[in-house]
Amino acid sequence: MLTDFLTNEYQQSAINFVAYAAGGALVLFIAYEWLFLRGRDGKKTKQDWAMAGIALTFLSMVQRPLLLLVIFLALSAIAPAYSGALQWMDAQYFWPCLVVYLLIDEYLHGRVHLFAHSRRPKNPWLQKIQAFYKVAHRPHHQTGGNDGRGELSVTQTYVEHWGWWLVLPNYWFGLICLYFGFYQVFIWGSLSKTLWGMHVHTNWGYSYDLYLLNHPNPWIHKPFHALCHILVFPNMHHQHHSRSANSAKNMTNFIALFDWLLWDTQVIEKERPKIYGWRQTPEEEFNPWYRYFNTNLNRAGPVKLNPKQGETAEKPTQQLRAT
Ligand SMILES: [Zn+2]
Ligand SMILES: [Zn+2]
Repeated sequence: MLTDFLTNEYQQSAINFVAYAAGGALVLFIAYEWLFLRGRDGKKTKQDWAMAGIALTFLSMVQRPLLLLVIFLALSAIAPAYSGALQWMDAQYFWPCLVVYLLIDEYLHGRVHLFAHSRRPKNPWLQKIQAFYKVAHRPHHQTGGNDGRGELSVTQTYVEHWGWWLVLPNYWFGLICLYFGFYQVFIWGSLSKTLWGMHVHTNWGYSYDLYLLNHPNPWIHKPFHALCHILVFPNMHHQHHSRSANSAKNMTNFIALFDWLLWDTQVIEKERPKIYGWRQTPEEEFNPWYRYFNTNLNRAGPVKLNPKQGETAEKPTQQLRAT
């Protein structure tokens, strides 16, 4: 591998372990959805599969190795003596380090995700940066076709535009931690976040969290409702993928605290979304390559309604509207 010469054996085996474990888990989640026919009847289209194939191939062959190369080259030049220097802390204070790592990672991820969904800032430079984030995140919200039959699927965890992975600060943060020697924290932090992220994207049908939230016994639904303020459960993220105002809610995939306490963007619904996925332009609808490589920054938000076509209400809020 291109980056082998930059990494020590602990760093390399941590990266490999995370990649193989995540890949294995993804296969299992796909097998579950296949077994329970979750992709039938337009729920998952050819374009969804094509986007998943393109995005996963590029992520593993291009963006991830490129980030590793750039970050490790830069750190080897700036701080050559510090590669692996904090391994003692990783070993002696594993649990506190893991909690801090997850909180920082999730905050960074959620904050830029929120930026990609927010209204246009006043500063013209920030407007340009945000337009790129919006374009880069847009494919993540395109599931199924414009017919409204599409649903969410586990492979959508990785469906983004090529630029998204390069501008996600938590990806940078994880690799920087790895350079300095947080090997175990990197492995278990990345894996827990990845596995939880896949599980909130999976199409479970009527997911377990809906069952618990709607349970008639208050000793069950009340504590579970409280738990939804700490962790993100599948239907909370499915609502983020809905074609409704809830699409601007629930920015995190794993730890719900930030949506609840910092950004006021939490929503806990007791039913599945009625319609999934943003409406697609004619260029996007049948062309995954266009979705993946589009750099037209004017096409940065959800497509507006065309009432003449008799489309279902998509109520674009200020936050959702195209910028
Ligand atoms: Zn989003
Ligand atoms: Zn998602």
